[in-house]
Parts: sequence; C-alpha cells; structure tokens
Amino acid sequence: MKKVALIGFGAAAIGFLKGMIDNGNIKDYEVDVYEMGRDIENSGFGGLKYDGKLFISKNMGGDLEIPTNIQREIVEFFLEKADMISYENGKKVYKKDIEHGLSFDDEDLFKKFYNEGFEPVKSEFFHIGTDALADTVKKIYQDFEKEENINFHFNSKIEKINKFESHYTINNINKNYDHLILAVGRRGHKLVKSLIAQEPKIVLSNNKVDLGVRFELPDHVVQELNDKMYEFKLRLKTKTGYTVRTFCNNPSGEVTLEKYDDFVTVNGHAKANKKTKNTNFAILVTHSFTQPFNDPIGYGSYISKLSNILSGGEKVILQTYEDFYNSNRTKKVGRVEPTLSDDSYILGDLNLVFPRKTVESIIDFMERLNEVIPGITYPDNLLYGVEAKFYGNKVDNSLFDNLKIIGDSSGWTRSITYAAAHGYLISNTL
Ligand SMILES: Cc1cc2nc3c(=O)[nH]c(=O)nc-3n(C[C@H](O)[C@H](O)[C@H](O)COP(=O)(O)OP(=O)(O)OC[C@H]3O[C@@H](n4cnc5c(N)ncnc54)[C@H](O)[C@@H]3O)c2cc1C
Repeated sequence: MKKVALIGFGAAAIGFLKGMIDNGNIKDYEVDVYEMGRDIENSGFGGLKYDGKLFISKNMGGDLEIPTNIQREIVEFFLEKADMISYENGKKVYKKDIEHGLSFDDEDLFKKFYNEGFEPVKSEFFHIGTDALADTVKKIYQDFEKEENINFHFNSKIEKINKFESHYTINNINKNYDHLILAVGRRGHKLVKSLIAQEPKIVLSNNKVDLGVRFELPDHVVQELNDKMYEFKLRLKTKTGYTVRTFCNNPSGEVTLEKYDDFVTVNGHAKANKKTKNTNFAILVTHSFTQPFNDPIGYGSYISKLSNILSGGEKVILQTYEDFYNSNRTKKVGRVEPTLSDDSYILGDLNLVFPRKTVESIIDFMERLNEVIPGITYPDNLLYGVEAKFYGNKVDNSLFDNLKIIGDSSGWTRSITYAAAHGYLISNTL
C-alpha cells in the first residue's frame, strides 16, 4: 500500500480527503495527516475558524479554473455537515434560515456601481458563521477518522522535509512516504519556503501583496447592500493606477486580530448568533512588483510590523476616516464604537505606516464609493491597519508526480471553496 503524508488539515486537506474517498483511491493508499494544532478544536486557520463564508464564483477565490459544479459539490459538502441542507422528495434544498444569496443579482444596484467605475463581482454565497463552523469542521474530521486508511496526527508541526530519489521523509519520523501533499495554507509559508529552497524550479511567479485597512461603520449605512447580498465585492482602478478591492464584508460583525509568527494584522468575522451594530470589510490595495524586487511577502510583513512597532506590541492602529484623510493622529473615537477589544489597538495615524501611494489609493476608493453609498466617508467611520493578504509563491504542480502543493500554500487559491476544490481535483492525480 502506498504511503501519503498530508501536511495540514485545513480546507485543501478536507477537499483532498473527500476526493480520495469519492474516487475510491483511499483503499490503495495509507494517508497520514499531520496537523500542528493541538487537537481538532485547536486546529484550522482563517476561514475554517472564523466566519465560514462559502462562495461559488468564476471571478473570485483563486486563479484556477474550477468548474462551478465542482465548487457547488464542495460547498454543499460543508453545508450538509453544518446541517444547512435538507432533502425533500430526494432533492437537496437549502434550509430557509441560512444566509444565502447572489451578489449583484439586482441589475439597478449593479449599474449604480458600474457607472461609477467599479467592477462589481458576481457570486453566490452562503454563510455558516463562526459559531457553527467549529462543529461543522469537527463532524467532517470525525467522518474522515472512521476511514481505516486515514491516520490523524495532531500537535505535529512539520518543519523539515527531506527529498530522496523516490520518496520523502518529514521531521525525524522514521517512515518513507511515496507522496507528499503540502496543504499548510498561508500559515505554513516557512515550510513551503524551505521546500522551495530545495526545489527552486517549483516557483512559477511571485510578485504581489495586498495591503490596506479593515473599515468599520454602522450597519445602517450599508443596510441595503447587506440585505440584498450579504457580501459585496468591488474592484476599482484608482487614480494612482493601483487596483483597490473590497473583501470579506461582515454585516453586524466584529473586527479581530490575525496573528502571524512575528507580527499581527487585522481581520474581521461575523457570528451567526451574536450580532453587533457595525459592519466591517477590508479595503485592499494590490501592490505588484517587478524585477529585481522579488519579496512581496517581506514587503507586506515589514509594513505590518511597522504598525505593531508604532502601537507598542501585538496591536494594530485605529484611526477615524477624517483623521486618516487629514493625516492627523486620532486621539478620540466618535459615534462609531470599535468592535475590536481595546487592548488590541492604539489610536494613531496610519499615514506613518503606509506609503503615500497606498494612502492615496485608499482615499480615492473611499471617496468614489461614497458617491454610490452616501455615508461611507462619515468622519467617525473607523480604519484599522494593517490588513494584509499575502499571495503565496505560485507553484508548478506538474513538475513532480509525488509532490503536490495544494490550497493557499500553492499560491493558486485564496478561499475555502477554491482551496478545497483544488485538493479535491489533485486527489484524482494520484
Ligand atoms: C480571518 C480569516 C477569515 C477568512 N474568512 C474566509 C471566508 O469567510 N470564506 C473563505 O472562503 N475564505 C476565508 N478566508 C480564507 C480561507 O481561510 C483560506 O483561503 C482557506 O482556509 C485556505 O485553505 P488551506 O487548506 O489552503 O489552508 P488552511 O485552511 O489555512 O489550513 C492549513 C492548515 O495547515 C496547518 N499547518 C500550517 N503549517 C503547518 C506545519 N508546518 N505542520 C503541520 N500543520 C501545519 C494549519 O494549522 C492549518 O490547519 C479567511 C481567512 C482568514 C485569515
């Protein structure tokens, strides 16, 4: 029986294992899953821990071509475990109380944004919610655990990969693996980096990082958008030439910290049952670099760290829109009450963190968005920084038959649906 080491148990690994079971390959392979989280409750990262918004879209979530029927199959797999699907006369139906809809289905709304220069991104979305998500992932894990040929090893951070002629070994574990599947997400970038050092040919490209802010405002300003589509995604080419996009809208949500090994950034999520009065979403500026610079992750990390240095530790900077616009340090917030706990931020000036071009891109985006959604640029609305989205190095998975990098760590995906679908499709190549 061939041996597979699957490193990481996140969305991509879930898709991979589901694929192995669905296509019947699992009976010919023994799969050891190594996850650094202490146990299932303490595992997972990002969208599998917070929020759980699932999308079906050709225009967002990753740079792979994933047929929508595969995307739907993946999404329905999660929804089924979340108990959000029922069967009527043998047909699947989505339960009525789940948050589900189509973005920019409303033609008038679509045109309003379009005419102002925005590109509204169409997608179908479902929202599981942070609270229901933990149970969903646990149920998936319990089903996989029942499989004879899948062995889970928690509390197992893999730090070393050794490549031999026909097999791999990991850490100091005395076992030869015929296949190595890396599914470590963005958090596992150090491991991917060490693999790339051994196999530099595997990198196809690496030139982008998205940097910006998490924006927070009262629900009522964006009520129409929240009611019509829960998640609105927009792109705009700003006057600086940089493209700015919205990402991860959380109606009645909360702003949170996102912890990396040596810095913290900001993020947001929404719970299905515990609501706040504020909506938050990310406003991200895409920074693309050309030769000789080739370290966008380093660039994004430095800018993120700078916000932590200015805040005096593991904190981010919070500023009102008016002060951001005028480049004044915020000393007092106004009518919008921050949802991030007050030991996680200091009031400050994000103009000391971001380069001028980034600031100008954000302001241009906000001012134009205000033309479509009056109230976006209310002086009291809040900006938290830095929010960063790192794109992993895009890897070439066709190079080796017995080594595959899947999900966000491959650089090709940036969502639960795409990461899981990537794993699902790769399981067929074994
Ligand atoms: C706060 C936040 C909210 C998000 N919300 C959404 C959302 O609502 N909808 C959406 O579609 N996407 C969302 N995303 C993005 C989404 O989470 C990712 O695109 C997706 O989870 C990627 O799947 P993955 O399997 O590649 O990585 P992950 O899901 O991150 O899984 C990687 C796993 O590998 C483990 N690991 C890492 N390194 C090692 C190692 N060295 N050894 C062993 N194990 C290791 C990690 O502990 C983790 O469990 C969000 C991201 C963040 C950060």
